[in-house]
Amino acid sequence: MTELTKNKPIIIVGGGLAGLYTALQLEQLAIPYRLFEAKDKLGGRIYSEPPSDASLCHDLGPTWIFPHHHLMQTLVAQLGERLFQQYIAGAMIYQTNINTKPQIIEQGQGPLLHRVEGGLYQLILSLQAKLSPSNYQLNCQVDSLKKRGDNWQVVVKNNKDASIAVHETEHLILALPPRMIHQYLTPQNWASEALNTVLASVPTWMASQAKFVATYHKPFWREQGLAGQAFSRCGPMIEIHDASAKEQQGFALFGFIGLSSQAIKDLSVEQVKALCIKQLSLLFGKQAENYHCCYLKSWGNDTYVATANDIIEPPAHPFFDIKSFLPELSSLKLYLAGSEFAQEDAGYLEGALQAADSAIRLLKKNVMT
Ligand SMILES: Cc1cc2nc3c(=O)[nH]c(=O)nc-3n(C[C@H](O)[C@H](O)[C@H](O)COP(=O)(O)OP(=O)(O)OC[C@H]3O[C@@H](n4cnc5c(N)ncnc54)[C@H](O)[C@@H]3O)c2cc1C
Repeated sequence: MTELTKNKPIIIVGGGLAGLYTALQLEQLAIPYRLFEAKDKLGGRIYSEPPSDASLCHDLGPTWIFPHHHLMQTLVAQLGERLFQQYIAGAMIYQTNINTKPQIIEQGQGPLLHRVEGGLYQLILSLQAKLSPSNYQLNCQVDSLKKRGDNWQVVVKNNKDASIAVHETEHLILALPPRMIHQYLTPQNWASEALNTVLASVPTWMASQAKFVATYHKPFWREQGLAGQAFSRCGPMIEIHDASAKEQQGFALFGFIGLSSQAIKDLSVEQVKALCIKQLSLLFGKQAENYHCCYLKSWGNDTYVATANDIIEPPAHPFFDIKSFLPELSSLKLYLAGSEFAQEDAGYLEGALQAADSAIRLLKKNVMT
């Protein structure tokens, strides 16, 4: 297998969870590969601003691992990371409008959701540590793809100095959402009309969301018998949860912001943060104003996650019927590993692992026969 791919390493596009998990499997199989990631850090939608204590990251992308997400739970254990339960003890708050007192609802519970101690970004750091640094390149945006006989020509633009490099490979793994493939990877050059159309139509899960996190020295809401959970009809945050990085450390609250991506863009970061803190103060009391740090991430304004359609369409679960395209993908030696390509749990973290597993299974079959 190594002989077959020695001169032309397999190329992986995208360094989010799906790309890194795929890379880990190739490392373990001793199959040479190169991974290109457009941003200056790995992780994709798994993202945290660097905190002062790297063991206490706060998730600005995904947070929860659901009870049936077994691949994720296994990966967390394999990487030596630990899970804890989302804090939900205590009352929740319901805010109808800014002129009436928010309503306290006792026993406002939810499903038991798992979280990674220190934030999901710990998984990315652990995965990254298992990869050989010479196998992945940051700031490398794949700009176009061409099929030349048996080979792919992968045009890579360095986002730092705008230099262009062309790489060749026989087997190509795309670990990014369908709409990102459509946006950057020129499927009009190599895909059938049907595949090209479907790539443009499958939405990217949570692509238009924005998240706000405020960190605190003390969990003052817990001390008042509150779960840190709130639902609001007036915003700017429409859903708020306890976002502490560990059970009894790195205390924080996070909220999904209900403003459109354009409205967030039209305000300054400081203005949006101030609006969120004001809302937290209204809901949880004045202590909310004594935050330690606060962070904002608008995914709708991230050009490597959201397209114009993701921003204007209502959120929808992705579904890509991979079976219809298997003959075409197989003849192209193209493997689709991003979460949105999973046949179950598409768009979720679990979907990223499922899609990556399927891609690796197909690749092994093609490379070995
Ligand atoms: C706000 C938010 C909350 C979420 N909450 C949850 C949750 O609680 N639980 C859950 O299970 N899931 C959740 N999700 C979904 C979860 O984040 C995704 O399922 C998962 O991270 C997808 O991983 P991926 O590797 O498939 O894609 P991505 O993480 O999108 O990775 C794709 C990578 O490709 C890179 N890229 C894009 N274009 C190019 C290019 N041209 N060249 C090179 N690189 C490129 C991107 O920069 C990115 O790093 C949430 C998502 C968001 C945004």
